[in-house]
Amino acid sequence: MDQQPPPATTHAVQPIGAAAASFLAAGPKKLLIDGAWCAARSGKLFETYNPASGAVLGEAASGDKADVDAAVAAARKAFDDPAWSGMSPHARTRLLLRIADRVEANLEELAQIESLNNGTPLSLARLMIAGVAETFIYYAGWSTKIYGETNPGTPDLLNYTLRQPVGVCGHIIPWNGPLTSAAWKIAPALAMGNTVILKPAEQTPLSAVRFAELLIEAGVPDGVFNLITGYGETAGAAIAGHPGIDKVGFTGSTEVGKKILIASAGNLKRVTLELGGKSPNIIYPDADLDAAAAATLMGFCFLSGQICVAASRVLVHRSVHDEFAHKLAELTKTLVIGDPFDPATTMGPLASREQFERVKSYFHIGRADGARVVTGGAAIERAGYFVQPTVFGDVDNAMRIAREEVFGPVTTLIAFDTEEQALRIANDTDYGLAGAVWTRDLATAHRNARLLNAGTVWINTYAHTDLISPFGGLKQSGIGRELGRHALDAYTEVKSVFAKLG
Ligand code: NAP
Ligand code: MG
Repeated sequence: MDQQPPPATTHAVQPIGAAAASFLAAGPKKLLIDGAWCAARSGKLFETYNPASGAVLGEAASGDKADVDAAVAAARKAFDDPAWSGMSPHARTRLLLRIADRVEANLEELAQIESLNNGTPLSLARLMIAGVAETFIYYAGWSTKIYGETNPGTPDLLNYTLRQPVGVCGHIIPWNGPLTSAAWKIAPALAMGNTVILKPAEQTPLSAVRFAELLIEAGVPDGVFNLITGYGETAGAAIAGHPGIDKVGFTGSTEVGKKILIASAGNLKRVTLELGGKSPNIIYPDADLDAAAAATLMGFCFLSGQICVAASRVLVHRSVHDEFAHKLAELTKTLVIGDPFDPATTMGPLASREQFERVKSYFHIGRADGARVVTGGAAIERAGYFVQPTVFGDVDNAMRIAREEVFGPVTTLIAFDTEEQALRIANDTDYGLAGAVWTRDLATAHRNARLLNAGTVWINTYAHTDLISPFGGLKQSGIGRELGRHALDAYTEVKSVFAKLG
């Protein structure tokens, strides 16, 4: 089934607001070290782009090892300073709530900056920034609720545990949901009394700069939060290998995650990694196929498929395969692809030229490996990095499009005959981030939830995350968990104290 490229949208495109416009017009963005804005020590800058047009959007300081050294010194000094280490948990709660307030008060500006820099439809970017504020509100509450324990032991000894901050944390984040990713790390880190150095992706430095300004406004003490914009190979690698950094929290590709793990070995940093996925979405014949198709569409097209939990392998029972393929292909036509600032737009461009080239290469790889294009399979002829939502059929789980993370609006349909076969294919992957099962049979649903090798499983839904619930991956999808109270483990060390009583 061939699909025409969706028509360009014709609705009124919202103009850039005054706040975002003046932020962009204010010139090259600087680093934040020890509470002061400064140029990179090298003086270097790099350009950043609007992926909806390909035009230059601004410049940011290209921080490298020397800047990271300065940020680490500032973060260590702040960590040891009683102004931070002696701050009561109640005061940290209030600080995090003030951060949430600042984010909410500047939500539209932050959403516009994010949307301009990575192509997220503005309507979605607003929801994501609202989620950033919620993340700080959620972890604000945890500052006062992290308890130690007293332990039974010999009568002449008192033993108890303390939960203490890990120290200086380096946070390296990607471009697909920059501030979401940052908030999932920074909020629990600050709630537990750590200090932070943030390195955003080279593609999306801008929202982190505005966010850093808001942290200062909220009263984050000097050096508690530092921002180093720059490249992964320089600034990122300097963070991963720095002997003065105690913990690295990383979200991005599995390839770079492995490099970070190796670099962290020098001083045995604590490491949490949130990496890629190739998540199976299993559709049994008794499923509500309309609901499954609608959720699958968003599962592989939300943020143009640039989400780590993308529904990129759809395992469909052979008896409903063709019907499901037809429904899914029809639904792709309902996506409104266009300018992220058009209120009608539901799918924007890919976030960068590299990503555009990468996704297009998989159109070729899928065809060359013998998969059938059910719909899509090409770029969209217009300025910016737009591609068609693409469904490959007749896919074998051994094909590269079924094994490698594409990170674009591309999914694969794989037919199965039995539950045992579905689970075997589902788990036959290097990844283990998420999975879903669609069935009306309770026993099948919960049996599959237990047997899928994934950090998150959805039953008759897709892609829900919640601040209250742990998020992370098995196998090469990562190490550790973010969100919920599980994130607190990643940002505290447990100390055991023995006191002689007599
Ligand atoms: P990436 O290179 O893994 O980028 C993630 C972050 O790591 C960026 O801040 C990056 O800086 C930094 N980085 C790169 N090399 C580093 C190094 N040697 N040491 C320390 N930090 C380093 O991801 P990408 O190249 O932007 O995207 C490639 C693929 O990764 C995507 O196609 C997708 O498959 C996957 N990905 C997954 C997620 C996710 O949410 N799990 C997010 C983004 C990408 P630079 O920006 O300067 O490279
Ligand atoms: Mg990269």
